[in-house]
Amino acid sequence: MSAKYVFVTGGVVSSLGKGLAAASLGCLLESRGLRVNLMKFDPYLNVDPGTMSPFQHGEVFVTDDGAETDLDLGHYERFTHAPLSRDNNLTTGRIYEQIILKERRGDYLGKTVQVIPHVTNEIKNAMRKVASNGADMTIVEIGGTVGDIESLPFLEAIRQMRQELGRENTVFVHLTLVPWIVAAQELKTKPTQHSVKELLSIGIQADVLMCRSDRPLSRDIKQKIAAFCNVEEKAVIGATTVNSIYEVPLNFAQEGVDALILKYLHKEAPEGDLSRWKALVERCRHPKDEVSIAIVGKYVEYEDSYKSLKEALTHGAMAQNLKLKLTWLEAEGLESAAPGDRSYERQLEEFDGILVPGGFGKRGIEGMLNTIRYAREKRVPYFGICLGMQTACIEFARNVCGLKDANSSEFDPATPHRVIYKLRELLGVEEMGGTMRLGAWTCVLQEDSLASRAYGGATEISERHRHRYEFNREYEALLTGGGLRISGSTPDGTYVEIVEIPGHPYFLGCQFHPEFKSKPLEPHPLFREFVAASYRNREVRKGKHRLEAVEEVSTR
Ligand code: GLN
Repeated sequence: MSAKYVFVTGGVVSSLGKGLAAASLGCLLESRGLRVNLMKFDPYLNVDPGTMSPFQHGEVFVTDDGAETDLDLGHYERFTHAPLSRDNNLTTGRIYEQIILKERRGDYLGKTVQVIPHVTNEIKNAMRKVASNGADMTIVEIGGTVGDIESLPFLEAIRQMRQELGRENTVFVHLTLVPWIVAAQELKTKPTQHSVKELLSIGIQADVLMCRSDRPLSRDIKQKIAAFCNVEEKAVIGATTVNSIYEVPLNFAQEGVDALILKYLHKEAPEGDLSRWKALVERCRHPKDEVSIAIVGKYVEYEDSYKSLKEALTHGAMAQNLKLKLTWLEAEGLESAAPGDRSYERQLEEFDGILVPGGFGKRGIEGMLNTIRYAREKRVPYFGICLGMQTACIEFARNVCGLKDANSSEFDPATPHRVIYKLRELLGVEEMGGTMRLGAWTCVLQEDSLASRAYGGATEISERHRHRYEFNREYEALLTGGGLRISGSTPDGTYVEIVEIPGHPYFLGCQFHPEFKSKPLEPHPLFREFVAASYRNREVRKGKHRLEAVEEVSTR
């Protein structure tokens, strides 16, 4: 049996949520017992997003095999169980890199190497490779917007796929915008018509239109779009803006898009079971209370740079039926004006929990150290991720163990106390290019630690990494002597993976990025426990306030 493909393209404008739409389709098809796989092509020339600024690109999502990928793969993982690897995200840069390598090797036997067929073949082979991984259906998202010069080879490749595999094995889903025009008090279909026409001009007739709009599409509008765009009326799917992204699969199911795709692909599948998603959305709609968390980082004005982190915290809150109130604080704003100045503390007082996320470079470090000191001393739940773990160790070394100049060699290469350093550099390992510790690494947990309790008593876990610097074990005795506990390490003991402070309500730093593995239906234990501890702190604080109020009244 031939592999079946769902091709997802986008029109009119970017940022309509194509990745989320693709992921939600995957979720629906998976809920019907099908095995889905998802992949994304990005039309830019960077080989991968690993070297791009978070402001440019948003988060770099890391897969188990250590690929640095587009953040849409995070959506795919949160909504499905597709096995994602470096094969599931390819950029134009990567495709050309492969072709040029072959050309230099003489693989093309003297032929002229061209966009068609060589680039398109490379693209099609990449799709076939992912589809051959046991999937009933492969969803292929083409990044960018139809009409961009950069995405043409990808669109040509999917056009050829239809030509080769036929209608029963390929379906074209196009995401467009149906804007509400205030002056006319009307939803307008023209941008959609133009976008479909643009696609048609390169040989692709859309089969399904997912229409993003702020209001529901009336029957009239759907009929109009169907007539002008040459699709069935029921193939005009309303993709209305929702409160929570986790409502998207439910909305799509209501619009019947999964049944339609199955029909077009001549595929039988049982009715989907979305009961767990429904329960989740119900819980989101009726939270019992809220919990307030501050993220103190360096790319905070652009939320997409911490996409998975935000989702993982949301999952942790949803697991406890809490509404997450997130505040993003720029770490530079928490620095001391002069030695001993602690006025930054006022900015932190209102939060139930504090998190310092990953990041690179020196900017904002002192503000993070101040924040961590506050959390440690005032017993506010603290969760440090990657850079947030490294800064927690530096803070501890400086303010508990008295090493005033403790630092990471990333921020001060000349520091006398490099508590955080580049281990491989010291070992004399010469590395070109990729010097990061990337992807899944096993971590052994110490018994009876906060970490092992969170992971349900597990002794070994696997988590994903993306960093260069490490805890320096030369300082282990000093720091553990001061009360820091190392509760997770790689099995050979080389790398420290988790530190915590026993006796503190919740103080944990991990060298890996747990946010990459959290799913709404499977919240990550470290996030779940951090949010739980933050909520306990909230309750305690509320109790204290009540007590103070009572005392104030009784002493008046
Ligand atoms: N800059 C630090 C390092 O390279 C932390 C990286 C991160 O937080 N992902 O080790």
